[in-house]
Amino acid sequence: MRSFYGFTLEGLRMALTQAGLAPIGAARLFNWHYKHKHTEACTTDLAQATIQFVKDHISFDLPQIEQVQESDDRTVKFLFRLADGKKVETVLIPSFKKYGICLSSQVGCAMKCSFCHTGLQGLERHLETSEIVGQYLAAQGWLNEHRPSNNRIATIVFMGQGEPLHNFDAVKGAIEIFLSQYGLSLAADKITISTAGFLPGLKRWKDEMPDVNIALSLHSTITEKRNKLIPINAKYPFQEIIALVDELPKKSKAVVIYEYLVTKGFNDSEADARHLGETLKGKRAFVNLIPFNPFPGADYERPERSGVDAIKKILEDYGVPSLVRYTKGSDILAACGQLNSR
Ligand code: SAH
Repeated sequence: MRSFYGFTLEGLRMALTQAGLAPIGAARLFNWHYKHKHTEACTTDLAQATIQFVKDHISFDLPQIEQVQESDDRTVKFLFRLADGKKVETVLIPSFKKYGICLSSQVGCAMKCSFCHTGLQGLERHLETSEIVGQYLAAQGWLNEHRPSNNRIATIVFMGQGEPLHNFDAVKGAIEIFLSQYGLSLAADKITISTAGFLPGLKRWKDEMPDVNIALSLHSTITEKRNKLIPINAKYPFQEIIALVDELPKKSKAVVIYEYLVTKGFNDSEADARHLGETLKGKRAFVNLIPFNPFPGADYERPERSGVDAIKKILEDYGVPSLVRYTKGSDILAACGQLNSR
């Protein structure tokens, strides 16, 4: 059995063709399950042989909800159990009447960033396309049931557990399903992939990835400091990463999002901020300033609000726009960098 949610439209067409069936069934199946949101197998508008093929070879199982935590601010954190018993977390972040969903791309993560709770977990395995799409569908199902009047997931960010560009093929497959006009029909500008700067994946982006938004976790533009925060910087220096990101084809209005984690006393000085401004000035950049979210055993400290606002002010001198991302869901450890499913 293969999961339905692991097939791109093209992949499903191929599977049907190889089985001697009409490829048109693929679009019909996509419509039925994604557009019309049926969870039981499709029995209308399909040849009998196709119905039988689906029955014999394709499963519709979703990740199982093991635990749901709801924050006072309406953030929801799911702990999902996968078919092999491994677990991942997914977060719904409320924004006005809608939600953004924060998806995981791996069980654990190999990047070992020193400020990140997931990094401590190490990499257990990559997620499959079906498990990435499955997080979205399972969370949508929960919203439909528990918050029916207010259940729209409008944006997707790959900012959960894992380094999405380290699991390029599975993430790309999921994005193709999210974008497919027969599938979930999301717009590319509603999807953002956040990367720690994994160069091998970025090199493939230009030719292979659909035109979704990119966010780079920068956190410092001073080499020794970034090495300490994001150890892969020693192998893939941020200067090379930024040069590659600059070359990505972008729609006229699109900007690159640079994330800047602010930790007290480490990367929050005026000199740090000026260095960042120098590096990004003149680029199509938007900076998200993220105050460090603590977790048990963390080595860093959360900055005062005034310290973060001061960085924002300095960036203005360089014409670099930014926003402070005040945390949501931290009471349930659902904020950036707090996910750990072990
Ligand atoms: N691996 C990807 C996506 C996952 S992390 C990446 O590195 O971009 C999503 C964002 O949360 C990243 O910018 C990451 O640096 C940030 N983050 C991680 N730990 C954090 C913490 N404890 N507090 C605040 N932000 C954190």
